[in-house]
Amino acid sequence: MDTGRIRKIIHIDMDAFYASVEQRDDPALKGKPVAVGYAARRGVVAAASYEARRFGVHSAMPSITAMRLCPDLIFVAPRFDVYRLVSNQIHSIFSDYTKLIEPLALDEAYLDATENLQNIPTAWATAKIIRARILKETGLTASAGISYNKFLAKLASGQRKPNGQFAITPEMGEAFIETLPVDKFHGVGPVTAKKMHALGIHNGADLKARSLKDLWDNFGKSGLWYHDIARGQDDREVNPHRERKSASSETTFAEDLTDPAAIETSVLTLADEMWAWLETSGSRARTVTVKIKWADFQQSTRRRSLKIPFNDHNQLREVALELIRLVFPPAKGIRLVGVGLSSFTTNTETLSIKQRAPDSATLPGF
Ligand SMILES: [Mg+2]
Repeated sequence: MDTGRIRKIIHIDMDAFYASVEQRDDPALKGKPVAVGYAARRGVVAAASYEARRFGVHSAMPSITAMRLCPDLIFVAPRFDVYRLVSNQIHSIFSDYTKLIEPLALDEAYLDATENLQNIPTAWATAKIIRARILKETGLTASAGISYNKFLAKLASGQRKPNGQFAITPEMGEAFIETLPVDKFHGVGPVTAKKMHALGIHNGADLKARSLKDLWDNFGKSGLWYHDIARGQDDREVNPHRERKSASSETTFAEDLTDPAAIETSVLTLADEMWAWLETSGSRARTVTVKIKWADFQQSTRRRSLKIPFNDHNQLREVALELIRLVFPPAKGIRLVGVGLSSFTTNTETLSIKQRAPDSATLPGF
C-alpha cells in the first residue's frame, strides 16, 4: 500500500559487462565484435560487445548462430575471477553512498539513495558521481536508472544504455508504464506475455484497464503484482541482507537445442556464474538443481545434495554436468536450462546488520 513515502532508488547496470572487461584488458579487442564464450560448435554466447550486438549477436545465442551472423566475431573464454573482482570494486564504491545495496548479479544492483552518506542532494547527482567513479576506478562504463521504486529504476537503467542514465520521476511513472509493451515488464515472461496478448493486453495502459478481479482470475497471485505495477506501484524494499533460500541462474536459448554438447556448455557457464555468486555473497551451498524447460514448456528438475558444501568450482561443475546428462539424449528440444543452489550456510556476519530505509522522504526532488 502507498504509505506516502517517496524513495529514491538507483539501479546500476554495467554495460555489456563480461565483454567490456575483456575489451578493457586486451586492447586488440577494442572496437571489435567480441563474444564471451566458446567458439566451438557446441558453444553458447555468454555476453556480447556492443559491436557484436549490431550484428544481432546476443547472450544465450548458440555460438554457431553468432558466427553466422557475424563472421568476424572474436570469441574470448570467460574469466569469472576477474568479473568478480570488478564486482567487488563497484560494490565498494556503492558503499560510500549507501549501505542499502541489493546485488542482482555481478554487474547489477539496486541502491536505496533516499538518504545518502555523502549528503548529495539528488539521486541523479549521486548516480552521476557513482558512474564517474566506476569509470575512473575500473575503466568500465555503467548505466543507471533512477526512480521511486525498484521496478521503475530497473526499467529506467535500460533507457540510455550504454554509459547513460535516466530518471523516472513520480510525475512520469504512470505515463511511462502506459506505453510500455508488456513483454518489457519485469516478471512477465514469454508465456505470460503471449497469454496477455491473447487477452488484448499489449501495453501498460491495457493492463491498467483491467480490474483486479479480472487479473486475479487470469493470472492468480501474479495478477496482484501486474495490477500494482500497471500503476507504478512497487513497495519492495532494497534489501541488502535478503536471506536467499535459493539462488539460480538460467539461460533461454534463441532456438530450442537438442545437441548435448551445446546444452552442456551452457550448463557449465551457469555453474560458473553460480560459483561466482557464491563467492561474492560469501555463501556456501550443498545442493545443486538443474532445471530444464522443454520446447513444449514442460519443466523437469534434477537435484543432488552433498553432505558438505561445495568446496570448489570444479566440483560444482561436475555435479551440474552429471545432472544434465540424466536427461540425455533429450526427448525433445530444450528451450531453457537453469542451475540453482540451495541448502545454504551463510557467513553469519553478512546477516547480522539489519538496516532499514528511512520512513519518510527527505527531499522531494530526484
Ligand atoms: Mg549489465
